Amino acid sequence: TVGAVAIDKDGNIAAATSTGGLTGKMPGRIGDSSQIGGGTYADNAAGGVSCTGFGENIMRFALAHKICRDMEKGKSANTATKSRIEKLKGRLDSTAGAIAISRKGDVGVYFNACSMPWAYVRGDEIHFGVDKGQHEVECI
Ligand code: ASP
Repeated sequence: TVGAVAIDKDGNIAAATSTGGLTGKMPGRIGDSSQIGGGTYADNAAGGVSCTGFGENIMRFALAHKICRDMEKGKSANTATKSRIEKLKGRLDSTAGAIAISRKGDVGVYFNACSMPWAYVRGDEIHFGVDKGQHEVECI
């Protein structure tokens, strides 16, 4: 999965998610990536979110929408992303990852899956990471 979020100088926010889906998926399965509110969501009043992970549970939980709603209420992108992914883990025992940007322009990255390389640009600064997630499963 490749996800992206962006905000322009006028505060317009976009989110995009592209995926090949899960290995061994049923023919015809449509994952969370294309489901607005599931794996992808953007709202100029809140922020933008792109998710990765087990799509069925991301959709059930409406993960991208929930992270956006938290940002709309004033949480930072980082706090909203971390707390909602931890709640998804608690409720559905599912791992996930997300990148988010709030309407104020702060960026959040969190994942409890095995790994999720990420990067973002702010001004002339590039931030990136390939670190391991906060996972309990053994990563292959
Ligand atoms: N979320 C995607 C899906 O379930 C898979 C992924 O993120 O790698 O289709």
